[in-house]
Amino acid sequence: MTNFVPKYIQGATGDWEVVIGLEIHAQVLSESKLFSGSSTKFGSEPNTQVSFVCSAMPGMLPVINEECIRQAIRTGLAMGCKINLRSVFDRKNYFYADLPQGYQISQFKDPIVGEGEIVVDLEDGTTKTIGVERLHLEQDAGKSMHDQHPTQTYVDLNRSGVALMEIVSKPDMRSAEEAGAYFRKIRTLVRYAGTCDGNMDQGSMRADVNVSVRRPGAEFGTRTETKNVNSVRFMMQVIEFETRRQIDILEDGGVIFQETRQFDPATGTTSGLRSKEEAHDYRYFPDPDLLPLEFSQEFVDDLAKKLPELPDVKRRRFIHDLGITEYNAAVLVAEKENADYFEELLNALEKKTGKEKKVFATQAANWVIGDLFGALKKAGKTITDSPITVLDGAELLALQIDGTISGRIAKDVFEIMLETGHGPEKIVEEKGLKQVSDTGAIESIIDQVLAENQSEVEMYRGGKDKLFGFFVGQTMKKTQGKANPQVVNQLLRSKLDL
Ligand code: ADP
Ligand code: MG
Repeated sequence: MTNFVPKYIQGATGDWEVVIGLEIHAQVLSESKLFSGSSTKFGSEPNTQVSFVCSAMPGMLPVINEECIRQAIRTGLAMGCKINLRSVFDRKNYFYADLPQGYQISQFKDPIVGEGEIVVDLEDGTTKTIGVERLHLEQDAGKSMHDQHPTQTYVDLNRSGVALMEIVSKPDMRSAEEAGAYFRKIRTLVRYAGTCDGNMDQGSMRADVNVSVRRPGAEFGTRTETKNVNSVRFMMQVIEFETRRQIDILEDGGVIFQETRQFDPATGTTSGLRSKEEAHDYRYFPDPDLLPLEFSQEFVDDLAKKLPELPDVKRRRFIHDLGITEYNAAVLVAEKENADYFEELLNALEKKTGKEKKVFATQAANWVIGDLFGALKKAGKTITDSPITVLDGAELLALQIDGTISGRIAKDVFEIMLETGHGPEKIVEEKGLKQVSDTGAIESIIDQVLAENQSEVEMYRGGKDKLFGFFVGQTMKKTQGKANPQVVNQLLRSKLDL
């Protein structure tokens, strides 16, 4: 289903529509930088990963890192974009203290990746298609450090020359929610492709947020660009704030200036940094030190073949082949590690139970998303450092599937697993938690329950059906929850419904 319902914002003088475009900077996962052999490792001592190329010593020549090219192509493929077999590196000239070259090597007219489309899911269950304009490769700048000395600014060039992918969207988003969904989808895709770690705390992924407003159906308005927003929550705050600010100005008869702004997380507001430069201000020209980048279609096809299964395909497979809900499938595929854990769990269960995956996939998905994710969240952990191994998880579920323990007891066993690190079979054995399915044993307990509650039995037989649950409860209580509920139900019915 496509979402055509426009989301207008009411102003004092009528409706407004917000228009959003994102430029996402994603740091390429690679051992070394785009044009030098220096390490890209995060968090090292300042200026320890700086070659003569990264510090722009005269006469140094850039040498392209083939792995960065592969990573850009993989990303383009994962996003379903056109891959350009010929692209050009340009110099984008500007002065900044942490940019020793005096220019950034980037791609201007001929980027390595061209147009594509990203489909995102929205909360109301609809989807929206958002256009990607391009992806180009460029160098990152160094970092100015203003907090190391009372009166001086220091420069750390470790980041100088690290490869970035700039992913530019079309101005297709119409709400903060759509922008958030688009950003998350791109993050999921680069993480699946293994081309960027998506680590926003470390600045591996950040976005420039372009916002303008217009009257519904009118020409695009003038946009502002808020730089380097490093969380989805902040991005949504920028959009809300900018939308309001621009509408207020326009309704007061003012005009919006094309400018670069910055976000202040402390106040949730944006403020003007500088008037926005135009492309011609940068005097772009092809870098004479670098030949145009050319590669063959076979090179691209080979990379495509080796890409892992992508989230949309995986999600469809989960829904169709395993019969799990759309919601569960969407949650599980959002992070590749979660999807991998789930699939390993199903494989282990298939081996253990000899049953088809479809039979227990829903139960397994509910356990992963409910119990396991809940426990991980509480412990501040992720699936990669999960205290519950795939095998222990499968053992716990298998005990339920074969009727050894009930669902209620399984919850207790899970808690004990988290506390002690012991395996479920051992816990069930030691604590005597096995479900009682032996009809004889359960029958005698039921007889006891009925004998002790004569008046309830009469009331039930007199038509008070609701009391059935009471008898089930009493029986379960006497067996410490270990009686097989199905057997209890059956036996109770046969004894009560005379
Ligand atoms: P620049 O480098 O000058 O910022 P780019 O072409 O790299 O220009 O990026 C422009 C970004 O701004 C794109 O994501 C585009 O979708 C978005 N954009 C363009 N026009 C508008 C507009 N009127 N309102 C909101 N976003 C816009
Ligand atoms: Mg830009």
